[in-house]
Amino acid sequence: MVSTLKMHFEEKRKRLVESLKDRGILTKPEVIRAMLIVLRHKFVPKDAESSAYMDSPLSIGLGQTISAPHMNAMMCEYLELKEGDKILEIGTGSGYHAALCAELVAPEESQNPGHVFTIERHEGLVKNARESIKKTGYEANVTVIHGDGTLGHPKEAPYDKILVTAASPSKIPLPLRDQLKDGGILCIPAGSKNFGQNLYIIKKHKNEFKTKKITGVRFVPLIGKFGFES
Ligand code: SAM
Repeated sequence: MVSTLKMHFEEKRKRLVESLKDRGILTKPEVIRAMLIVLRHKFVPKDAESSAYMDSPLSIGLGQTISAPHMNAMMCEYLELKEGDKILEIGTGSGYHAALCAELVAPEESQNPGHVFTIERHEGLVKNARESIKKTGYEANVTVIHGDGTLGHPKEAPYDKILVTAASPSKIPLPLRDQLKDGGILCIPAGSKNFGQNLYIIKKHKNEFKTKKITGVRFVPLIGKFGFES
């Protein structure tokens, strides 16, 4: 029974990846590999397991969501994640996207493993994400921090890549720009609190920032000192 269920999830995961490839969203072999390996069903509440491989956001409690897989895939592709990268993620949520990043920056038996630091403001989600990350084997390469991610995590800065998975106000939090390495990439949804947001890719070169608008998106708001008020 257990192995039938496991096969069932594996089959659904493969079908999801194939459809994201067909839609032109998944193109990079390393991102495709990570999406096939990370067990998304282990990051959602038990009663949502059967929907884990549908391309839609799912509730994870406390009014928050795990993003739709196409958004995870898109953000990973635009961030150009590579082995050895040090990543900062703001908005751990379920921990799934942090695990995907870990699979990309620290693949098994890597001689140069990178690390993912991920910040979540809800303590209950921090606890669940830590458990899921441990269960799926990413504990050594992912550190989950409880706090206000709009402040970044100066202790480990600078970061090769910064990923924000909640919608920022149009003025991008200054600490995140400061904590990005020269040559680094920031991927962030920004705009208004509930509607009218876009996904941006921001590249830093010698303290200059080049911003590219990717597409319209809808994320839960980034709440914090440099974000929206709760
Ligand atoms: N990346 C997540 C995943 O893989 O499940 C999905 C993130 S969910 C769309 C956005 C998350 O950002 C929520 O869990 C929310 O609590 C969190 N958040 C919002 N403002 C934050 C802040 N200032 N610092 C840290 N987390 C924040």
